[in-house]
Formats: sequence, C-alpha cells, structure tokens
Amino acid sequence: MGIKVAKFGGTSLADASAFRRVAAIINSDPDRRYIVASAPGKRFSDDIKVTDMLYECYNHAIAGENTDASFDKVKARFADIINDLGVDFDIDSEIELVKEDSKNNLTRDYFASRGEFLNSKILAKYLGFSFVDAKDVIFFDEYGHLDEDKTYHIFAEKVGAYEAAVVPGFYGTAADGSIKTFSRGGSDVSGAIGARALMADIYENFTDVSGMMSADPRIVSSPKIIDTISYTELRELTYMGATVLHDEAVFPVRRAGIPINIKNTMRPEDRGTMIVSNAPPSDRPVTGVAGRCGFSTINVEKDLMNTELGFGRRVLHAIEKNGVSFEHCPTGIDTMSVFVASEDIKNCKEKIIDDINNKVNPDVITIEDGIALIAVVGRGMANRTNIAARLFTAIGYNNIHIKMIDQGSCGTNIIIGVAESDYKKTVEVIYNEFIG
Ligand code: ASP
Repeated sequence: MGIKVAKFGGTSLADASAFRRVAAIINSDPDRRYIVASAPGKRFSDDIKVTDMLYECYNHAIAGENTDASFDKVKARFADIINDLGVDFDIDSEIELVKEDSKNNLTRDYFASRGEFLNSKILAKYLGFSFVDAKDVIFFDEYGHLDEDKTYHIFAEKVGAYEAAVVPGFYGTAADGSIKTFSRGGSDVSGAIGARALMADIYENFTDVSGMMSADPRIVSSPKIIDTISYTELRELTYMGATVLHDEAVFPVRRAGIPINIKNTMRPEDRGTMIVSNAPPSDRPVTGVAGRCGFSTINVEKDLMNTELGFGRRVLHAIEKNGVSFEHCPTGIDTMSVFVASEDIKNCKEKIIDDINNKVNPDVITIEDGIALIAVVGRGMANRTNIAARLFTAIGYNNIHIKMIDQGSCGTNIIIGVAESDYKKTVEVIYNEFIG
C-alpha cells in the first residue's frame, strides 16, 4: 500500500458538511492514511476562525479576566460539528480540560493550538483513525527552529506505527517542553513534515481552490490554474506575493523529492497543481506572474563611482546597519539604486541617508517611494529567445514606464519595478501576453 499524507485546511473542516466531504475524499483512496488537520476556519466571509477565537480567550486569560464567555463560543463551534455528525465526543469535558491545563500553560501558542488539537480528535473519531498529538511528534530546538532529525525520527516511529492516523497541524513542542506554534497557516508546514517523516509518495494539500493560480485573481479575472510548477518557480512566485502554501512548507518535502499536490476539497476530481523538483519542460515560457506594492528605491550618484573600490559594499553596509535587507541592487557606471521594502525604512530614512553620506560621500542621494515589483517566472523562459523582447514591447505599448529590470542568473525569472499606480495594469499586460 502507498502512503499519502493529506492536509486539510480550515475551510475544508469548517463545519459538519465539510467534515463529510473530507471523509468521502479520504475514504475514496486507501493510500490517504495520514491526515493533518487545521482548526475550523471561516464558513462564510464574516465568520471568525476558531484560531482567532482562541487568541481572544488568551487575551482575556492574560488580562486576568474571566474566559468563560469566549471559551463558550469555541465550544459552540465544535458542538455544532459534533452534534450534526453524531460523533460521540464530550466537548464539555474537553473544553474544561483545556481551561484547566491553560492555568499552567498561559501562553498564546498553547491557546491557539487547541483548535487543531480538538478538531483533529473529532476528525479521528469520525474517520475511525488513531489520534496522535503533534506535541509528541513535532519538536523545536532551543533556537525555535524545527528539530528535523528528532521530529522525522519520532514522527515516523509513532505515527507510522498506525495503519491510519490524524495529527493536528500548526504546533509541536518547544525545547523547554511548552507548546509552540508555527506562524499562521502553519498546518501546511506540519503536513510537509509528516510527508517527509513518513517518506510519503505524495503530500496532498487540500484547500479551497483548485490549485495555484497563474496571477492574482483580484487583478486578472479567472486566471488559469498552473498545472505543474517546480519548487524553484513556486518559491519565486510566493516570495513575490502569490499565496497558496505557507512559505516554509516546501523545504521538508523538496529535499526528499516528495511532490506536493494542491487540491480543492470542494472539487476533488480536479487535478489541482503539482509542485515537483524536476518539472517537465513547459510548452509556455511563463508559468506565473506575481508582484507586490510597497517598495522604495535609495538612489546614490557619484562621479567616478566605478573607480572607488568597495563603494557598493559601503552603501549596502549603511543599509544593513539599520536592520534593512535589500531586494535588488541595479547599478550604472556612476549610479546605484537599492530597492528595499518601504515599511522597513519608514522610521530610519534620515539615518540611512546620513550613514550613506558618511560612508561614501555621494554627489546625490534620494529616496523614491511608491514602487511595485513584479516577478515574471517560468522554467520555459530559460531556453527560449525573444521573451524579454515580448515582455518589454507589451509593457511599452501600454505606456508603462519601467523603473528597474533584474534577471535572475538561472534565467527563469525577470523582476521589473514600476510605479505602484501602474502595478495592476502591468500584471494584466504580462498575463495577457504570455498566459491568457
Ligand atoms: N489554524 C491556524 C491558522 O488559522 C493554522 C492553520 O490553519 O494552518 O492560521
């Protein structure tokens, strides 16, 4: 029998009908034996995620206030699911236990983790699977990083001992023995860890879309779903704002060569997106386009800059000294521009200018805000000609002024900078030229 690790996100487990759908998906494939579950998410757009309700419980608890009313809301969410499904699960006692335990675990992470903990116990009961607590199989080291060796070893031993099991996503045990969560959306990471530990054939990530979109649907209407994407392309697109998976979820599986399949719980028959190490050659040059607003450029000019050894290093050091990391650094003969996140420099602009003045004594130094960066990503670009010509012609025909161009050394990525006011139009133009 094969091994599939399947992670179901919050919307996939938001209510009883969602649970039924998830059970049907799991039961339709005997290989889907190891399940990682999120806490119940939103049932409708104004709904509140159970994780957010639990943060509220924590806020009351830490302020020394009564937590009964906020825990009652959490209980009501779970009671709806249990009663509708007819699962034999004593939610009253479970919530009492959490309240009791929380007195000795008065941390934000402990409270937040209880959504996944309770939801996974209920799902395990409903499916007839074993329940394994994530605190016993996922471990962090003293620096707060995943303790990979220990986790993979113990996860495989304890979870793999069962024919089929449900493990809560989002949390594990810190080096001091307390509960520690990943950042929001972290069940994706737990699923990837589980897939790596069990050396699964595939990591299925069930969510509420039929795969990764080739552009932001708020900009391009009904963008095409990406069929197959390499880990490298995914990383480039998610870094630039495409959202489909938690940032850290690719690392455990990527190293082990385990593919990820992004699938839709509402339409499990859809193929979804396959994320793989070695994607087959693509018949289209561009896999996806993604971007973000909120960048600034620090422009430095000095005559004969090119003759001053260490000029660039000193400028970058002045920026680094202020705790700011840079995104891109295109240079001319006597000019240099450093692209940074506007948010990172908003409180230290004057200081950065002073530091650069002190270090390199430039002729001119200016800072320009309001820049958007857009990544055009595709493994099919590397071995094709004429891609840059098509890209810049399409942009130029639309009267969009380009402020920066950067092509990654691998040739699968061209980043351009435009004014924020041109951002959406530029994404549309690129999409229509290469994908639409
Ligand atoms: N429940 C957590 C959140 O809302 C973790 C997750 O769903 O992956 O972020």
